[in-house]
Order: sequence, then C-alpha cells, then structure tokens
Amino acid sequence: MTGHKDNPSQPPQEETPPPVGPKMQIIKGIAVSPGIAIGHVALLGDDHRRLPRRPIADGAVAGEQKKLDDAIEASIEELTSVHVRAKQEMGDEAAKIFLFHAGMLKDKSLIVPMRKMIEVERVGAEYAVSHVLGQLADKFRSAPDSVFTTKVNDIDDLASRLLNHLLGRAESRMAKLPIGSILLARDLTPSQAASFDRKRVIGFATDLGGRTGHTAIVARALSIPAVVGCRQLTAAATDGSSIILDGDRGIIILNPDAERLDEYHGLIKQRATFQLSLGELRDLPSVTTDGERVELVGNIEFADEAQHVLDLGGEGVGLYRTEFLYLTNKHEPTEEDQYKSYVRCVEIMKGRPLTIRTMDLGADKYTQERAETPERNPFLGCRSIRYCLKNQPMFKRQLRALLRASAKGPMKIMFPLITSTGEFRQAKYIVNDVMEDLDEEGIKFDRNLKVGMMVEVPSAALMADTFAREVDFFSIGTNDLVQYTLAVDRTNESIASMYNPAHPAVIRLIRDVVRAARRHDTPVSCCGESAGDPEYALLLIGLGLRTLSVSAGSIPQLKRLIRSVSLKQCEQIARQALSFDSETQVSSYLRDRARKIVPDLFDGRTGE
Ligand code: PEP
Ligand code: MG
Repeated sequence: MTGHKDNPSQPPQEETPPPVGPKMQIIKGIAVSPGIAIGHVALLGDDHRRLPRRPIADGAVAGEQKKLDDAIEASIEELTSVHVRAKQEMGDEAAKIFLFHAGMLKDKSLIVPMRKMIEVERVGAEYAVSHVLGQLADKFRSAPDSVFTTKVNDIDDLASRLLNHLLGRAESRMAKLPIGSILLARDLTPSQAASFDRKRVIGFATDLGGRTGHTAIVARALSIPAVVGCRQLTAAATDGSSIILDGDRGIIILNPDAERLDEYHGLIKQRATFQLSLGELRDLPSVTTDGERVELVGNIEFADEAQHVLDLGGEGVGLYRTEFLYLTNKHEPTEEDQYKSYVRCVEIMKGRPLTIRTMDLGADKYTQERAETPERNPFLGCRSIRYCLKNQPMFKRQLRALLRASAKGPMKIMFPLITSTGEFRQAKYIVNDVMEDLDEEGIKFDRNLKVGMMVEVPSAALMADTFAREVDFFSIGTNDLVQYTLAVDRTNESIASMYNPAHPAVIRLIRDVVRAARRHDTPVSCCGESAGDPEYALLLIGLGLRTLSVSAGSIPQLKRLIRSVSLKQCEQIARQALSFDSETQVSSYLRDRARKIVPDLFDGRTGE
C-alpha cells in the first residue's frame, strides 16, 4: 500500500516501498524433459532417514513384527497396482521396475534383518526399516562410484513406501500435494516419478541425476517437464514458494518476479500455439527448400516409445537403446523377453527403418548384477561392446533374440563403442556364429541383416576409412564422441560448460567420418543428442548428414527447421564453422545463423 500518513496536516511522507519479497534466484540444471511449468514448490525431503529410535516392551515384539509384515504386504499390493497403471502409461518394459521393487520386498535377505532388529534390539518396526534400509543405501551411496545411484534410489524408494504404511501415511504426501506443484527433491526414484498425480505435479527438478538416469527416462516417457543435476536447488528453495521450471533450457527460477512470470506465461501460450503449428507438419516430408531429403528418425529406450516417434512425424527408429531392458530388470532379461520387445518394435514400425543397438551396458548404465564390482574409471572401463565380448553367452542371447525378430520385418543392428577393427570383426563373427546356430535349429532370420557400428570414440572416427570397408553403416554418437574427444565426463555437472559439441575437434571428426562414408558409399547417420538441437542440426546437414536420429520430442521442430532452410545455406554454415578455431566462435556463429533462418523456433529466447 502506498499513500499519506493519517494526519493530513503533516507534510506528505515518502512513499512506503512495496514489501520486499523473497529474492529471485535462477538455478541451472540439465534439461531432461521439455516443457515449461509455473507453480509452487513442493519440497520432498528424505526425513524418513532421521526417525527416532523407538524402544518397545518385550511383549510388543510380535506385534511390531506383524506391523512390519502387514506393511510389506500392503506395499507389494500397492506396487502391483502401480505396475498395472504404469504399464498402460509407459509400456511394459519401463513398468517392470515396479515388479522388481515388489520382488525386493519378498527377498528374505532384506526382510529378515529388520525382523531380527525388532526382536534383538527391541525397537519399533519403522525404526528397524529405516535403519536397515538406510544402512544399505549408505553403503552404496558411499561407494566411490556414481553408478550406484540407481541402487540407492531403489532402496530409498522401498523405505519410503514401507514407512508410509507403517506410520499411517498410506496416502503418500505426493497424493495430497496441491494442484500445480513442482516437486523438488535431492533425487527422485523412477517409481516416485511414475506415481505422480499428473493433475497435481506439473514438473519436477532434482539436485542430483543425469540425462541417462531412470528418472529422466520416466519423465520423458510421461512428458513431464523436468530438470535434473541442479545441485543446490533443494537447499535454496522454500516449500510453497513460487517457481518456474523451464524444461527446455534446464532452468529453475525460484521466486520469479512479475516480469519473469509475465515472460513465461507468454512463452507457455506461444509454445502451445507453436506445438499446434508443428503438429501440422507431421505428415509433410522432411525436405529442404531446395529439395534435399533429410530423414528424421527417433531414439527410443523402450519398444513402445516407437509409436510416439511415428505420432510426432518420425520416419522410423534410428537408435533403440536395448540396455534399458536390462536396467529395469533385476535379472538379465531372457531371450524371450528380448525377442518380444524387438518384435513389438518391428510390428510398430510396419516396414519402416529400424536400427537396434546391441546392449550398451557399463559406465553410467550399470547392471544390477555387476554393481558389486565397481570399476575405478567406468567410462574408460569394461563397457558396451567390450562388456559383450567378455560376456559372450549373454551377448549371444541378445543376438539370437535380435536375429529371430529380424524374420518379422526390416531391421538393422549396430554395435556401440567400437574402438578397433578387431572388436568389430569379433562382434560380427559372433553374429555369424549365432546365425549358424539358428540355421541348425531351423529358426528363421534375415540372412542379409545389415550390421553397422556407432562412431563414438575418436579412434573409430579417425579410422572411418578402414571401418567403411567392413561395416554396413555408421551411426555417429556425439554424446560419447564429445566426451572422449574433449576428455569431459558427460555426466559431470561441474564441467558441463566444457562439454561442447561445437568444439572444432569434434566437428572435424564428424566431417571426416562423413567424407569417408561417402567415399565408400556407406550410409551414415547421427544419433547423439546434438542432432536434435536445431543449431547443430544445420551444421550436421551442412557436413553431409542426411539422417538424423533424435528423441521423439525434437522431431517436429527439426522438420520445421529442415523445411525452412536450403542445403546451400547449410553447406555454407558448415564451411564457415570449420574455419573457426574455437568452440565459442562456432557456438555463437551457429546460434546466430539458426536464429536468423528460423526465428520462430527460438521464440526470441537467447538462453541464460
Ligand atoms: C551417443 O553416445 O551419442 C549415443 C547416442 O549413445 P548413448 O547416449 O546411449 O551413449
Ligand atoms: Mg554412446
């Protein structure tokens, strides 16, 4: 309120300044699921880890153990119904995590210590749960390796679920959140993300996490705007305060001022209109203004996502990351499990292009079984094709499933992280071996199945000429190519600014791979995240790429870009970009050109 004091005879006082609200704060994280949400902070704490030790009388032991058993039973029931719901929303494979959690609750090695603790230490059931599971989580958390995060998440998730039942909070806090909540947590488990009431939770952000975490995958599968890796976010935020979550740019604005709110409300409207206009492009061809076709295909993690790619106007699947089938299961999926997923994908594709990558386990994507023996430097360790070549029976099971599925419709397969010709030859040899086995068993498969490789390490890029003589196709994986060329861990938030695909070393490698491929008539595509970035896509097309494989959500905007630009313009952009000697120059040049060519793709947003 402004105005004069009560006494009119007094000279006018100075205007009272408006009350100072909490300070606006902008926090940058990693954008993992696009969209903008404006709402209120709902802080989700991990307070179950600080439960007081509640002593119980001798005669209360049986009662507390019964309470524990009941909570376990109720949690299993709950997980079974979450599984059914998640299956409908996210598909079979993504939903399996809930069956896995239910399985953990039947595991005696987890339950017996809790019952014993109640009996021996005479403590309440909730304390036994929080102590036993807390200790287990701490053990994984303190391991010198970030790959344990998934396991910690699973344990924390189970602890919360059990405690909700034990402490009479059967309806979890999440179900009671106000409409328009933006959930902030140090970390979220996939099961938490999947059980959000979508009317209440309109976005989420976490301090921890990277793009390839389960939770990020669930967010994308459910189309909830999300930002992860925000580090100090939960420490800075206050429950109930106003917040903007920008899942497009990976930005969180705490206590936004009126100007910022106006800007974002405008952006939401603009975005909705824009999405509608993009939808109209769905069935139009992806060609440049001068008639050059650029194939747009999708990256998927689960077979059911393939339909989403088609719905958004994709022409096929350029990268199916099959390892997610392993990550959402406690045990290695059987040949039959895998076969079903691949056939499902083939069926959805109905003859359209489909490239399936053999499992890329290790590094930040770790199997449950292997978690017991961490590596010191897992990104340079036994990952991807190396892991497969060391675990041939497992690799062969996958290849059998893939080959059998190849009888049902067109598909290609490719190997990840090939670094030497020996590796490719060995992997190909195993494929031939499996083909012979299938032949002997009279099982059908596509004898002419194309076998390609990812180019995602500098050694492979530098030797593209040699590889091109042997492989059926290349797919350039910029996510890893950037990290290995620049020696920048792609999952480390603290050096994220150094992770720049526009680095001259990276673009020269891409140029050389494309040139080598052309010389040998070897098809080449790009399936790294950068291919979905309109600025970078201009460069890739200019460098000679004619197939871009991107996450489904990026397809419409890329189609708009391609239909607005000429090949000549792209080639000129690539020539100019190659003439620069620093990534800053390349980045700012690309940014500038893209905004001039398709300003509406950027809605005047310049980035923070
Ligand atoms: C890549 O490395 O660019 C890639 C597409 O594979 P992933 O992101 O699964 O490592
Ligand atoms: Mg990779």
